[in-house]
Amino acid sequence: MTRQAWVNGVYIAAEEARISPFDRGFLFADGVYEVTAVYNGRTVDMDRHLDRLERSLGELKFGAMPDRKELEEVHRRLIADNGIVEGYVYLQVTRGAYGSRDFVAPDKPRLTRFAYAESRALIDTPHARNGLRVISVPDIRWSRRDIKSVGLLAQALAKTEAKAQGADDAWLVAPDGHITEGASSNAWIVTEDGEIITRALSNVILAGVTRHALFDSLGQQGRKITERSFTLEEARNAAEAFTTAATGLVTPVVEIDGVKLGQGRPGPITRGVQKLYYTAIGADVSKAAPWVLD
Ligand code: PLP
Repeated sequence: MTRQAWVNGVYIAAEEARISPFDRGFLFADGVYEVTAVYNGRTVDMDRHLDRLERSLGELKFGAMPDRKELEEVHRRLIADNGIVEGYVYLQVTRGAYGSRDFVAPDKPRLTRFAYAESRALIDTPHARNGLRVISVPDIRWSRRDIKSVGLLAQALAKTEAKAQGADDAWLVAPDGHITEGASSNAWIVTEDGEIITRALSNVILAGVTRHALFDSLGQQGRKITERSFTLEEARNAAEAFTTAATGLVTPVVEIDGVKLGQGRPGPITRGVQKLYYTAIGADVSKAAPWVLD
């Protein structure tokens, strides 16, 4: 089946999709994006993703918004036309192309809008089952990480370095020794006493949609989450750790910089959190992820 993408209002075979090299997204990373998980052929938390997209565009003073109803329809149609049961929809909005390279943003943007969808297992994956081995790398990003900018070079380099070292992913460490977040996820640790800890929201991390959903689910169970920053040292000594993201949902972390956490296997609290989140998005946990019942 030919993969369908969507560019500026037109559905088109993905290989034929084109944008101008003068696009400010290409020249200046002047754009934002969202990745929305798809499970059972439906988007997961699309409203929150679109809210965050609008916030990112507002913070960058785009002065124009894509039509939200149209974007919702684009998600639905890309999922249907591409036969996506489990996977994601990628959506990018840039300030557009103006035929030259001017640092000064135009008064009236001509937004470039691009989306495509891809099938990908989210739940029954080796990483969800066995956990990630992560390395720590210095967080060299700009200071507005609350904006989901397409300027992802630091993250791409971090993940490439992780692969070069034989690891699965990278966690980013601020100059003060505290973990900010994962290269494309929010970072969580669990103490020996079962306390679940993740960094509080601010400009130094992205307000993850999956993070938000987990707060809701854990809150409904009366479970407390401690929002505070933690050091790399604390993470290495944690009983358990995990990441949250639309592309990996809840993924255990079993090793940091070669140091095994606990038994070096996904821990019971992380398993419980996985089960809770999978159930919240409508997965039949007994079928979809038998290992979480361990
Ligand atoms: N932090 C960063 C830097 C990310 O890139 C992502 C997702 O791509 C997240 C956190 C998690 O956000 P979400 O749960 O909305 O996917």
